[in-house]
Amino acid sequence: MAAVFALFLVAFATVLGSSVADPDMLEDICVADLTATVKVNGFVCKDAANATAEDFFFTGLAKPGLTNNTFGSMATLANVPGLNTLGVSLARIDFAPGGINPPHTHPRATEIVYVLEGELDVGFITTANKLIRKTIKQGEVFVFPKGLVHFQNNNEKSPASMIAAFNSQLQGRLDIALTLFAATPEVLDNVLTKTFQVGTKQVDKIKSNLAPKA
Ligand code: MN
Repeated sequence: MAAVFALFLVAFATVLGSSVADPDMLEDICVADLTATVKVNGFVCKDAANATAEDFFFTGLAKPGLTNNTFGSMATLANVPGLNTLGVSLARIDFAPGGINPPHTHPRATEIVYVLEGELDVGFITTANKLIRKTIKQGEVFVFPKGLVHFQNNNEKSPASMIAAFNSQLQGRLDIALTLFAATPEVLDNVLTKTFQVGTKQVDKIKSNLAPKA
């Protein structure tokens, strides 16, 4: 498994060589100084002399994330400070039995996933409104092009998990349902009733179902 995963990373890094989404780097390293008050496109670098291995290291993808939430899924991001300016990032997504990573987009990155465990129904929708979908299982890879709406759904009675790589240090995420029905302040009901061609009661029901649990 480790060897396969290493190959996957090498393949992904090779692809990145020809299509980097984030601005290219001007220095060897630019470990994020998360305490800096100056805002730049990314993060200010801390003094390279103070960089340590810990800035480039993360153990959080080794074990499953908690999936006891509304959607039955959890994304764990490996956004370590050392990633700043490097144009890549990695995440792990875990799924409870029946869990879904609901339709969302990453405005700044293409995503490539590798299934660690289980079986998932995955897909994305193009700007021509064509659904590209497939059922993928352990050891298989699927790609979600930059900016397109996509999802991963576990229809099985057992858990599933995947590793996701992005060609951005900060891929960003817009959840379609939450963006429209759980924004602060709220998107006005009449925007949503006209958009979805339903009544106010139906809009309010979705809003209350998606509201953060107290
Ligand atoms: Mn995604």
